[in-house]
Amino acid sequence: MNFVSANPTGLCFGVRRAIERLEAALEKYGKVYSLGSPIHNPQEVGRLSSLGLEVASDVRGISEDSVAFIRAHGVTRSESTELESRCRVVIDGTCPFVRRAQSRAESLSADGYRVVVLGDPEHPEVKGILGYIDGESLVINGANDIDCGRRYGKIGILSQTTQKEETLAEIVSKFVFLADDIKVYNTVCQATIERRKAVKKLAALVSVLLVIGGKNSANTRELFEIAKNTGVPSLWVEHAGEVDWGWLKGRGTIGVAAGGSTPDWLINELTCKLKRL
Ligand code: SF4
Repeated sequence: MNFVSANPTGLCFGVRRAIERLEAALEKYGKVYSLGSPIHNPQEVGRLSSLGLEVASDVRGISEDSVAFIRAHGVTRSESTELESRCRVVIDGTCPFVRRAQSRAESLSADGYRVVVLGDPEHPEVKGILGYIDGESLVINGANDIDCGRRYGKIGILSQTTQKEETLAEIVSKFVFLADDIKVYNTVCQATIERRKAVKKLAALVSVLLVIGGKNSANTRELFEIAKNTGVPSLWVEHAGEVDWGWLKGRGTIGVAAGGSTPDWLINELTCKLKRL
């Protein structure tokens, strides 16, 4: 079968770096605890678990004197301090771009700004960023969450790294009329933007799109939504075994796109199968 891959696609810099650090730690220490799932991909978590990874939902679930790993999404400041005091070794896989958002939030808060975070309040990255704010904060999902009937005083705005720049610009343009003092940091990550653009570009070249990535991955879901919105018939699978090959037959060139948390080996399994058919 003919296929073309999106470019760029698959693991982003931050997740790749975190996984490489985790793999090195597993090789060195045998057993490593991760606070929360290290990657939104069930197959990759399964592979890492077979190498000795243990996923803990909170710091108390991590044995004292053990080796702990902080995933690319980061953790709150207090969780980081707790891990440092509880564990023998802490391997920090926090993506530098997420770390930058945490630092911006911390400094805005220290300078007396009420920090507005554009993002999903339930996402671990947002929870981590909020953990660096000492003063007031507010999480919003978009411009519709802004109460236009009140004043906001002194606000500092930043974003979860995977949000859209357009949404950030939209909320800033609303807050301009509602706040006395505004400081804005664009903390949106380019890796996400590039992957979204790549899917749109790919859609113009192919007759069907296959999106591969964890069903629990928000960025893969976003790529799938973009794929569907292009009007090109699209399918979202976690691995090659889920592909309906009969559905693909006779459809012409297939486009392959992967979420920023889809490991290379899963993409390779899929493309190898496409090559053989
Ligand atoms: S999407 Fe960007 S900010 Fe998030 S882990 Fe990847 S490189 Fe880092």
